[in-house]
Amino acid sequence: MADIESLKQALAVSPNNTPLILMLAGAYLDQFSLDEARGAFEQALSIEPNNPDAKVGIARILELNGKSSEAIIRLEQLCEEVPEHAPAWFLRSKLALTEDNGPDARKYYEQAISIDVALVDEDLLLRIKQAGGEALVETDRGKPTAQTAEGWQAEFESSEEDLNDADGIFDDLEIDFVEKADVNFSKVGGMETVKEDIRMKILYPLQNKELFEAYGKKAGGGVLLYGPPGCGKTLISRATAGEINAKFISVGLHQILDMWMGKSEEKLHELFELARRHAPSVLFFDEIDALAADRKDLRASAGRTLINQFLAELDGSMEENDGVLVLGATNVPWHLDSAFLRPGRFDRLIFVPPPDAPARVDIVNIIAEGKPVAGLDAKALAKRTKDFSGADIKAVFDQATELALTEAMKSGKIVPITSKQLAKTAKLVKPSTRKWFESAKNYALYANQSGFYDEVLDYLGIKK
Ligand code: ATP
Repeated sequence: MADIESLKQALAVSPNNTPLILMLAGAYLDQFSLDEARGAFEQALSIEPNNPDAKVGIARILELNGKSSEAIIRLEQLCEEVPEHAPAWFLRSKLALTEDNGPDARKYYEQAISIDVALVDEDLLLRIKQAGGEALVETDRGKPTAQTAEGWQAEFESSEEDLNDADGIFDDLEIDFVEKADVNFSKVGGMETVKEDIRMKILYPLQNKELFEAYGKKAGGGVLLYGPPGCGKTLISRATAGEINAKFISVGLHQILDMWMGKSEEKLHELFELARRHAPSVLFFDEIDALAADRKDLRASAGRTLINQFLAELDGSMEENDGVLVLGATNVPWHLDSAFLRPGRFDRLIFVPPPDAPARVDIVNIIAEGKPVAGLDAKALAKRTKDFSGADIKAVFDQATELALTEAMKSGKIVPITSKQLAKTAKLVKPSTRKWFESAKNYALYANQSGFYDEVLDYLGIKK
């Protein structure tokens, strides 16, 4: 236990030294001088209002004073503000346990130790298990795991209050459209050409507004991304928004067109309006082919008018689209209406291929970030994952994580993911991109009007 007197002496010399104040607060806590401890934590907060250790300290004192509910509320808020702060999760786990909430206690405990292994506490884990807190096992491949910091982060971001509510126009729809993008280009492996294209289209014009205007160019416009599934079209779109600190408005068209039945045009207009109001913004339409393909999914009469409405919005002929980047993504570009590809609409078509070996190294490193991986050999894994999409590589990690977790559950200790497990699961996951190229090759060879599929042919090494 730190000596209270010597800490006080040190503080007399350096009164604004927050770490020292926190040590003093801890020392008071250790001897249950709760008022003094609280005073010291508050002093730390008066110097650094967002200091998470001081906030956890106050929550701890509230708990010791029998004010658990207030402590829980404060911790919830703290975990939302600073999700990477392990002690907050740890204390939150203990508090959930005092409320007999084993499952939540388990969630918070696992979150804490996924950030800081040093917090492993066998006794606490035992009590959690007794309170019915079973292990959380990932079942949905696409969803971030609840056990990882990344997973929690994603959960917070998606539950972040929805700007649509503020706008009040989408109250009747249950979909969250506007997000704060939580990633930037550094979280996207490879795709250098795509990144540069997007920079040219929106980032540079925003940064050099006057220069671009002198050449009659504005920021924004339409870019269509196409390629096999899981190769990062959605990710790069979200990262584009993150890169320019813009709002990300994401719309899965197949998903919502049914919901919009009878009022699709009006809703589409509202969406563009939303994007304009939030400019600079990235308006992302996943499965853009839903507009032009699968006509049977649309009311026969609505199909053409909806496409026209979409194109008019995109043209900016109705409203100003300055600062709105419209990104469309499709895995089936051959279903697209050629009207989409005229200048002023999606005038940049970008092929998003499966990642090459250096890009796979990047992706492996990005996915491994923050996970307990022992002796990661990204190059070796990249070699084993030829033709894998980014999503396939993520699946390799997800499965290896499950293996490691199973062992961790048996031993009650953190067991790192090993290169061996990764190599093993890489053999089990089948690369999903080959099937796409079987179809794409036929279109590229026999329906390559205006060289639309030249990049696909290049990728396949077929001469034009
Ligand atoms: P779909 O066509 O099926 O919608 P997509 O091309 O939009 O797929 P994403 O949803 O962006 O693919 O990728 C799925 C996941 O795969 C991402 O969330 C990410 O975890 C991983 N991933 C894919 N590509 C990359 C990449 N280049 N860098 C890092 N991670 C990637």
